[in-house]
Amino acid sequence: MDANEIKALDQEYILGTYGRNPIVLEKGSNATCWDAEGKKYIDMTAGIGVNSLGFSDYGWAEAVAAQALSLQHISNLYYTEPCVRLAEQLVKRTGLSRVFFGNSGAEANEGAMKCARKYSVLKYGEGRSKIVTLVNSFHGRTLSTVTATGQDVFHKWFGPFPEGHAYAEAGNLDDVKAKAEGACAVMMELVQGEGGVMALDPQFVKDVETFCKENDILLIIDEVQTGIGRTGSLFCFQQFGIQPDIVTVAKGLGGGLPIGAFIVGEKCKDAMTAGDHGSTFGGNPVACAGANYVLSCMTDKLFDSVKKKGALIREALLQIPEVAGVSGMGLMIGIELKTKKAADIVAACREQGLLVLTAKTRVRLLPPLTISDEELQEGLAILLDVLKN
Ligand SMILES: *Cc1c(COP(=O)(O)O)cnc(C)c1O
Repeated sequence: MDANEIKALDQEYILGTYGRNPIVLEKGSNATCWDAEGKKYIDMTAGIGVNSLGFSDYGWAEAVAAQALSLQHISNLYYTEPCVRLAEQLVKRTGLSRVFFGNSGAEANEGAMKCARKYSVLKYGEGRSKIVTLVNSFHGRTLSTVTATGQDVFHKWFGPFPEGHAYAEAGNLDDVKAKAEGACAVMMELVQGEGGVMALDPQFVKDVETFCKENDILLIIDEVQTGIGRTGSLFCFQQFGIQPDIVTVAKGLGGGLPIGAFIVGEKCKDAMTAGDHGSTFGGNPVACAGANYVLSCMTDKLFDSVKKKGALIREALLQIPEVAGVSGMGLMIGIELKTKKAADIVAACREQGLLVLTAKTRVRLLPPLTISDEELQEGLAILLDVLKN
């Protein structure tokens, strides 16, 4: 099939929920990929923060293929080794206690909210079911996670929405306290990804943690985009000096295969019991084998290089008059523009052979954590050139 046939079939047979870039991608290696016509692109999207190790990393592909060739799925009615090994790593590397596996970020957040509510009902009875999230947050597309998402644009068409959600202003502790009346949990991203790559103020985060601890309100940190090395540590919360009660993770964990999880601490480790929650594909051995390989690559050396590469990109961008500011942490970067439109920058970069993302009005970069110095220089040169012209 050629590229035009593929686009025509997509238009005919797939729901039009995505504004796709007009290219068909065919193959890739680390942060470089090629379209169906053989045109080369440097990739600074990592499939929206998913391909932590870039395209088709050999060790990752080998781990996945070996598992697929021995046992690809058996359901949660049986034990498998890749799943327990992954859970052990996630627990040991977060200081939390137990894991539930699903398939996506939304499913991870949905499970975390269910778990928080059950914890609260067991301890305090009914009437404490509210989940507080932040204005400008993004937590997913299912009915409950889209309700938890603090952006009105996502709240059209699909009502009625589940009850028990409230939104507090980021950075405003008094607002969090006011909205937390009758709450079992506060859930937040430490760097709001879809909201424009906006990092929260560290003091605000510490204050929310203290307030939550004092009132036995669970602190859920949504690390779906910030987790797995993206910000220069395995999880972003580790740089904020806090210990959440529940952490959710997805995107970068599987290295390109669908997997999500919520990881709970001491308070919630016995809250969920047999029959309370489930997911047919959750803990799938192939996805877990890929994730185990990804975690084995998450070393201090990699985190240092994520921080260094992030700093290099930031510094270069700040030299450009069109750039009003650079936000984010590590290799999660938002570029605020003075006069240009983010979508036009994306299109111009694509023409020149560079893939980048938007987040609200900003250009967003989420390159693979393993992007090579050469790929980085090549991609950055295109980006700087586009921003200058
Ligand atoms: C992408 C994202 C989600 C949703 O993840 P899906 O896998 O698309 O369901 C949730 N929270 C955050 C912070 C995200 O970036």
